[in-house]
Amino acid sequence: MSSDPNCIFCKIVAGQIPCWKLYEDEAVFSFLDIGPLSEGHCLIIPRKHYETIDQMGGEEVAACARLIPRLSRAVRQATGAAGWNVLQNNGPFSGQAVPHVHFHIIPRRQDDGLGYRWPAGKLDKQTAERLMDQITQRL
Ligand code: AMP
Ligand code: ZN
Repeated sequence: MSSDPNCIFCKIVAGQIPCWKLYEDEAVFSFLDIGPLSEGHCLIIPRKHYETIDQMGGEEVAACARLIPRLSRAVRQATGAAGWNVLQNNGPFSGQAVPHVHFHIIPRRQDDGLGYRWPAGKLDKQTAERLMDQITQRL
């Protein structure tokens, strides 16, 4: 499905609902996030509807990723951000609220209160060997 009539981001791409557009080309669309975590928070999306990134072809992901450095530079210069997160959530348990693939660019400042530490585990040898097998078999 290249467009989902019930998808809010497909509606944005189609011009059916408004957005603060930053960039578009034949494959990619970018606009300001309406619920920003910080000033300059914006999104890059493929024009076509894909729910999660594994449904996309590499070239389609590359078309989105190609914009990341350019948009990052523009956002950094425009906002004076000290850093930024590039975030892409897949599935509701990852925090994905809008089921149309999107990459967040979230400008960061010292002491902005957003946090960035997730509790890290420790990788043991047995688990690592099992995962290495299970994942590489499927690549
Ligand atoms: P996620 O939780 O990764 O699915 O992020 C979805 C993002 O889309 C959130 O940051 C929302 O603020 C943003 N969002 C939802 N609706 C709109 C909209 N109409 N225009 C711009 N951003 C939106
Ligand atoms: Zn969509």
